[in-house]
Formats: sequence, structure tokens, C-alpha cells
Amino acid sequence: MEKKSIDWSNLGFGYIQTDKRYVSHYKDGAWDAGMLTEDANITINECACVLQYAQTVFEGLKAYTTQDGRIVTFRPDLNAQRLASSAQRLEMPVFPQERFIDAVEQTVKANAAYVPPYGSGATLYIRPYMFGSNAVIGVKPADEYQFRVFTTPVGPYFKGGAKPITLRVSDLDRAAPHGTGNIKAGLNYAMSLHTLMDAHRQGYDENMFLDPATHTKVEETGGANFLFITKDGKVVTPKSDSILPSITRRSLVHVAKAYLGLEVEERSVLFSEVKDFAECGLCGTAAVISPVGRIVDHDEVITFPSGMEQMGPTIQKLYDTLTGIQMGMIEAPEGWIHEIQ
Ligand SMILES: *Cc1c(COP(=O)(O)O)cnc(C)c1O
Repeated sequence: MEKKSIDWSNLGFGYIQTDKRYVSHYKDGAWDAGMLTEDANITINECACVLQYAQTVFEGLKAYTTQDGRIVTFRPDLNAQRLASSAQRLEMPVFPQERFIDAVEQTVKANAAYVPPYGSGATLYIRPYMFGSNAVIGVKPADEYQFRVFTTPVGPYFKGGAKPITLRVSDLDRAAPHGTGNIKAGLNYAMSLHTLMDAHRQGYDENMFLDPATHTKVEETGGANFLFITKDGKVVTPKSDSILPSITRRSLVHVAKAYLGLEVEERSVLFSEVKDFAECGLCGTAAVISPVGRIVDHDEVITFPSGMEQMGPTIQKLYDTLTGIQMGMIEAPEGWIHEIQ
């Protein structure tokens, strides 16, 4: 198969339309067989539940080429599970988990010419999503849904090395206590857009959100979980019912314990402890780990000992080990690397 002529290492993180996408419709209580289509546009009624009441959930994962030339995805079973729990929380039917994997495989295979070559740093981002598609005006869940998967090639997250970023503590919340912060839904992003743009206008890269009930505990950013490293080399990651269970974070916790022999604490993390940590990183599918150099809370400025020039040494080790596992250089735990045949 001939690859598209794309300047892979200079790709950004923007939508580029690829050839095929998967769609399955839910109607009269059942999902249809599903198929690939070339049409990238969707026609739905003006009163569709997704447009009026935001009934939609999504996932994000990537396909890439390993050192030995296989096209693989990373732990797609966990994306299937998470989409199922997100859907249940918004009263949507579950798309069967084995069909989720099949739909991802079909879509990646159909767009194999867009999977970047090994070594380019680029990946094929995969976006599975679901929405309520029929007209609903009185508040209730839709009766009809679409499950879809599209792909778009994205460039290397860090061009010319991973520079630490600066966060500010947001005064606004992304999640409510006992709300929907733990599901992957567009509604959590809609409510963080204003504070995100405000952070950018003030010169910060991202927001740190604190727990919505007391504003004393660290939660996450708009789209990534936190990892901290203590001065004596322990990994600490916040535990809360209102953060999204990141697959990257869960994988890094395993890597820290099983590959690097580090002690890991998953617990509540007070914001007042943050100044005592040695390193900080954000984890998510896109970057794996982005180093954080500085966090600003109004008048208080915390600069981690790892500084603003490079990743801290422990975060770097975690990053190198997980990316080594993903790319096939380090042996992966059973079931982590899912080859697309
Ligand atoms: C997707 C997402 C993450 C990262 O999850 P991964 O599974 O590691 O990609 C973290 N926080 C939020 C709010 C997210 O939506």
C-alpha cells in the first residue's frame, strides 16, 4: 500500500479528512450491521438530541507504525469499555465492545495510507463517537443514535523536544461534585472552553482544575491527568470521582511499578502539597506525558525543581519506557499492543 504524500514530521494537530469512516445506526432498539462510507458529512434533524441537549460521548486513541513495520493501536479494549460507561451515564445504548474494536480496525485499515511511517513521530488519531440523532424537544434521551469512527493524521506532539508548560489554577470548574467529570463527553469540554481561552489570553498553556466541592484538591486539566514525582522519587497521582480515568495514566502507573520499580500513590492530592513535588507531568493519548514546569495560583508561583527547560528525570524515564513499549522496542504487557492485520 502506498502512503499518501504528506510531510509527516511537519503535520500539526488539525483535522485532515481521510478516505473512509465507519458508521452504524441504532434504531428500534438495535444497532445495524455498520459500514464504511466516503461521506464525511452528517445530515441530521435540526432538533436532534445531540444539538439541543448535548447527548454525545467520544473516545480518542491512535494508530501508528512500530519499529518492525506493524500498524498497531494501544489498549483499544479500554477505550471500548470507557465509551460504554460514558454512554450509560448519558442514557445512551452501549455499542458492543467487540464491535468497537472491529470498527476501529476497519477504519484504520481503510485509511492505512494515512498511518504515518515509523520514526516520523506522527500518528493516525482515531476518534470514535456516538450521538443521539433523532428529534427530541421535551427533555429525554434520543431513540436513535449513530456510532461513528473517523481518523485524521496528526503530527508529532513535541516538535524539537518537549518544553515544559505553564499552568494556572482555574477559578471556574470543569466538573460538578457527583457530576459527569469522569466520563468522556463533549459537555465537559464545552464548559471548559471559556476558562481555557481566558488562560491562553493571560499567557498560560492550560488550566489546573481543583476539586469542585472544596477547591483544595488537585483534579486534572481540561484533557489530561496529573502525575507528580516526590523529592524521594515516588509517583503520586490524584484520585477523585470527578476526573476522567486516563488510559495513559493507568498505563504509566503500571510501568512505574512493574518496569521501573517505583512506589506509586493514587490518592487525594492537596494543592498545598504541590509546591513540595520535584516534577510534574500531564498524561493523555496525544502527548503521552507533557512536562509541567510552573503552576500559578493568583499570587503564588510554583516552579518545579525540574525547571522550564526539560522534562524531569523520572517523568523522562516514564515517558521513554511507555513510548518504548508502544513502539515495540520494549516488551509490552499482555494485550497492550493491538495489531491491525
Ligand atoms: C481523554 C481525556 C484524558 C486522557 O485520557 P487518555 O485515555 O490517556 O487519552 C484526560 N482527561 C480528560 C478530561 C479527557 O477527556
